[in-house]
Amino acid sequence: MGMRKNQSTLTADEKSRFINAVLQLKANGIYDRYVQHHRDLFNSGIHNTALFLPWHREFLRRLELDLQAIDPSVNLPYWDWTIDRALTSSFWGNDFMGGNGVPSGGAVQTGPFAFSTGRWTLTIRDNPAARVELTRAIGSGSSLPTTNAVLRALSRVPFSSFTVELENLIHNIVHVWIGGSAGTRSSPNDPAFFLLHCNVDRLWAEWQKLHPTESPFQGDGQFNVNSPMPPWENEITPPTPGRVSDHIAMGYNYGPDDPVPVPIVDLTVGAPSHQANIGQAGEFDWYRFVSPLASTYTLETQGPSDIWMSLYGPNSQSALVTEDDDSGEGSNSRIVSNLSAGTYFIRIRHYQAAGTGNYSLSVNRNAQPPGPAEIVVNGPEVQGSIAATNESDVYLFNASQTATYTIVTSGNTDTFLTLNGPDNQNAFISQDDDSGPGSNSQIIRVLTPGIYYVRIRHYSPTGTGNYGISVRRT
Ligand code: ZN
Ligand code: ZN
Repeated sequence: MGMRKNQSTLTADEKSRFINAVLQLKANGIYDRYVQHHRDLFNSGIHNTALFLPWHREFLRRLELDLQAIDPSVNLPYWDWTIDRALTSSFWGNDFMGGNGVPSGGAVQTGPFAFSTGRWTLTIRDNPAARVELTRAIGSGSSLPTTNAVLRALSRVPFSSFTVELENLIHNIVHVWIGGSAGTRSSPNDPAFFLLHCNVDRLWAEWQKLHPTESPFQGDGQFNVNSPMPPWENEITPPTPGRVSDHIAMGYNYGPDDPVPVPIVDLTVGAPSHQANIGQAGEFDWYRFVSPLASTYTLETQGPSDIWMSLYGPNSQSALVTEDDDSGEGSNSRIVSNLSAGTYFIRIRHYQAAGTGNYSLSVNRNAQPPGPAEIVVNGPEVQGSIAATNESDVYLFNASQTATYTIVTSGNTDTFLTLNGPDNQNAFISQDDDSGPGSNSQIIRVLTPGIYYVRIRHYSPTGTGNYGISVRRT
């Protein structure tokens, strides 16, 4: 788990590793792809929509992973502008972001991103005629947001109110305060962009901690929790707001106390229903269960409340599998889903934002439909095959009268036979390896009436092959 620190607490070594990784990302061309994505999408949904926070979170996380590919010790630092407000702050030092433009609004001439270093030429710009040097006009366009303004934004609920205030009254004016390149569509040209946005991202996480019963994200008319975010929408699992609303699940945190863990109740598959309730308006209840093998599961709620159920996994609390409102009894929810092996998470909420009430929840693995195939006594030989190593095939036959029965395999496979019964798949009677022709198996027994079960496997745990099996009564 990577920890994102306040930039003011970084050691000289941490600062230089961060700067070096940024410079290498710039040199190999990847950094400029970020600038280009932000410029191209600037007016296409990533600002002034519900995507603002999720999109920039994904954007930062990708850059951070690219930096870590260069230096695994690097994490994105955040810049808390309510504390480090002055141009004299170490944030603008020569060993970190460098200083103001000279004259103000002109090119940055100090620090690692000065044009004179030869390592920071702006290749992606809003228009081709714009200057190729990083520019800044610190403090000339606005004042930095205050602590009170940030606290006021953090107090807003629901998410839709919070994000609008954070974006417009806090985030925008930090861009304007830096000015120059940071005030353009190509604003990631100024590496301070990423530390500014890291703090914005931290405030979203902080807001979630302050309002644990609020939904961490709400859609708007344009985007919902499952909207694939550009430019990554053609990826096999494209990022969506739902997939990025839990930053811990994405592999980073903002310090050892982040977050206050949300209690998760472990459910046992097949156990009696778990009794619970939505005690407060907006409450989320979280559950976890393990699917030991790929199978079909039924998750359902019961009781008088109109429950909304969301299923996440495998092994992720933010990767949405599916959601359901009313497929269960009454207003209850039911999800039937084929799941691969892994740990899954269930989130329960009331369908109505202000709703409360009791419910119970159960998870069951569905019965596997294929039962044993039947061998007809004195009927035709049944053809089968051990298709995979360690596979075993089970058949049943009906002994209708007390008599001597011969169970025998045929073919070139070295089969191993086990006979169980009567009327019980686990009551052992006999087993045989090679009593039949060649390497075939044969069991001859006097059996009383009942259903008997024959299990066939290869003698070798790694062997496979075809066989025939028949049962004769004499
Ligand atoms: Zn942006
Ligand atoms: Zn921004």
